[in-house]
Amino acid sequence: MKEALDRLRPRLMEIFTYLHANAEISWHEVETTNYIFDLLTREGFSPVRFKNITGLYVDVGNGEPKVGLRTDIDALWQEVDGEFRANHSCGHDGHMTMAIGALLLLKELAPSFNGTIRVIFQPAEEKGTGALAVLKEGIIDDLDFLFGVHVRPVHELEDGTYCAALYHGASRLLEGEIIGEDAHAARPHLGVNAIEVGATIIEDLRTIHTDPMVPVSIKMTKFQAGGDAGNIIPGNASFTIDIRAQKNDVMDALAQGVKRVIDSAKLLYKVQIELRTVANVVAAEVDLTAQNIMEQAIVQAVGLSKLRKPVRTPGGEDFHHYAVQRPHLKSTMLGLGCGLTPGLHHPKMKFKQARLVTGVEILTRAVLLALASGKTKEGSA
Ligand SMILES: [Zn+2]
Ligand SMILES: [Zn+2]
Repeated sequence: MKEALDRLRPRLMEIFTYLHANAEISWHEVETTNYIFDLLTREGFSPVRFKNITGLYVDVGNGEPKVGLRTDIDALWQEVDGEFRANHSCGHDGHMTMAIGALLLLKELAPSFNGTIRVIFQPAEEKGTGALAVLKEGIIDDLDFLFGVHVRPVHELEDGTYCAALYHGASRLLEGEIIGEDAHAARPHLGVNAIEVGATIIEDLRTIHTDPMVPVSIKMTKFQAGGDAGNIIPGNASFTIDIRAQKNDVMDALAQGVKRVIDSAKLLYKVQIELRTVANVVAAEVDLTAQNIMEQAIVQAVGLSKLRKPVRTPGGEDFHHYAVQRPHLKSTMLGLGCGLTPGLHHPKMKFKQARLVTGVEILTRAVLLALASGKTKEGSA
């Protein structure tokens, strides 16, 4: 396997370089989908585009058990060197490279196995809605296992170390509108200042208290009011609140708290405030059998000394919707320590691309081990 990986290495770096340079934002991964579709077709695979969304999947082998490997494919819209553009600062370019690498490695090794390996290229992870859309495509229901992967920053996993599960927290994004009328700056008594309403909401968010044993965070991440004219009191504003919690029930309690804060601001200022949930990512529900298989894969590939305990992280990941929506699914995510600095979503995020090759090996071993475990189970039944 190591020799085959060495042969693939330059190819994988080429694929990564293309994907990195051609980043596309959530739900607009058109060229990314085309590139992967064409590449896999040329390699003799039979990829299938999703019917209603960007992204694709490909099956290798046939029959039971069915083992899935999922990568996300979208980038973030952010300012890089003074210019706004799509940027792969969450490493999804690396995740795609590893998923493609696993397919190319399987082809090189031509292993004979019973069962199906399904590699899924999921759009719009950053919106928190991509996994739910893939579920609607109907290609998750028949899977027994589902593996994912995410690169980790150095403060979570040191370079060259790996973990077999990522305990992401739950995250929710709420968008709100304060709806009122502008007033002359000389006559503040004739209007309601949307900026003051916003300030009250920010203050009151601090009065939401949940179980202190479960880490949470809640804050306003966007507030826009007013225009060019500084002598107008803005009656309207739009804002975004980002909430994080390490457990799904605590997330529900936080969301209740936000509702109370908004209701009280409405009452206090006699204004209309609308609030809607635009993203809702659930906390990790890791399956221990899948985690155990991923641990074995890590140990086989890099040895026990490079295996780390599962990482608990406040970051969100829509991968966990799969296991929450389809509880039969045995799923876990590989954490890849790749010297990633300064952090995920940082415009200048970078990591050691060489670690992607190790990622390919671990993921390939994991899917093969999962297929074998399925076979043993069937055999003993
Ligand atoms: Zn991200
Ligand atoms: Zn990500």
